[in-house]
Amino acid sequence: MSEEIVDITIIGGGPTGLFASFYAGMRQMSVKILDSLPQLGGQLTELYPDKYIYDVGGFPKVLAKDFVANLVEQAQYSEPEILLEETAISATREGDHFVLKTDKGVHLTRTILLTAGIGAFQPRKIGLSEEEGFAGKSLHYSIKELSFFKDKQVLVCGGGDSAVDWALMLEDVASNVTLVHRRERFTAHETSVNQLMASKVKVITSRTVKQINGADGQAESVVLVEKDGTEELLSVDHVIVNYGNVSSLGPLKEWGLEMDRTSVLVNSRMETNIEGIYAAGDITNYDGKVKLIAVGLGEAPIAINHAKAYIDPKARLQPLHSTSVFKE
Ligand SMILES: Cc1cc2nc3c(=O)[nH]c(=O)nc-3n(C[C@H](O)[C@H](O)[C@H](O)COP(=O)(O)OP(=O)(O)OC[C@H]3O[C@@H](n4cnc5c(N)ncnc54)[C@H](O)[C@@H]3O)c2cc1C
Repeated sequence: MSEEIVDITIIGGGPTGLFASFYAGMRQMSVKILDSLPQLGGQLTELYPDKYIYDVGGFPKVLAKDFVANLVEQAQYSEPEILLEETAISATREGDHFVLKTDKGVHLTRTILLTAGIGAFQPRKIGLSEEEGFAGKSLHYSIKELSFFKDKQVLVCGGGDSAVDWALMLEDVASNVTLVHRRERFTAHETSVNQLMASKVKVITSRTVKQINGADGQAESVVLVEKDGTEELLSVDHVIVNYGNVSSLGPLKEWGLEMDRTSVLVNSRMETNIEGIYAAGDITNYDGKVKLIAVGLGEAPIAINHAKAYIDPKARLQPLHSTSVFKE
């Protein structure tokens, strides 16, 4: 057990948690960041690193992975202790601090900021018996590097935003792209669907993948099946599945936090119902809440400034302007 008591432990190293780390540094707080994933960046790194984001202030267009790289650099300002592949399990108060238990150990912290997004998440699997043999080699649930698929025959499965976005982004990288969707109608944004229909991507609807054929983890073809049982063989090198994610707040649900279905309820100070535990970003809900990166980036400083004033009641709530803190 680490004996040092830090001022704030941030649970979740997505954009909200990373910006909170920077901000806690501005308020001279000591910081620890925990994330159950092997890397920082939350949904941006795990689900769409090569996708552009257009709706964060100051960046007309920025790749998710580049945005995360900037946030990680900025987060270093607090010199946080970063613990990856570590999942928060429980928190109990002991005097003026919390004892936070994880799947790897115990941490002592004066306050906690929950920036756990949609929870520890996992992609919804394709559900084929042979999937284990292909997973990570030619069966994928996310795309880390677009160039990995250069000149390959790629099948994208799904009808939501991610599936359509990936198919369009691969259009000029892969030798050919097919998108298969089990329904006629797409749930993806209408503009993206129109773009898809006008693209070189071959679109097949009302069919699902019944089987992946190949050897040593390398796919060679897939069997597509219609509802009436009609089968079709399609030659492929890679299968990318975008059936959405199964996410779960898991152990966080047992903390006694006031919640609605999947979100932690907070007030306008980003305080939860447990004194000393704050929440920000996608994990929160309140009247009028909108789940966006930009919103999480705004909620993080609110939570941090209130956590600072909670630990040290003499501290100002309203921080100095950053230009006063960072004198060149
Ligand atoms: C395909 C796609 C495209 C998107 N495009 C946009 C866009 O263009 N613009 C926009 O504003 N938003 C977009 N979003 C939404 C955006 O990604 C989220 O709003 C944002 O990621 C929320 O950030 P966060 O830091 O609150 O949570 P997250 O990014 O979800 O990060 C939470 C982190 O907490 C960790 N965690 C969870 N539980 C625990 C635990 N118990 N212990 C330790 N760690 C834990 C998770 O592993 C994760 O890394 C998109 C989402 C998707 C899926």
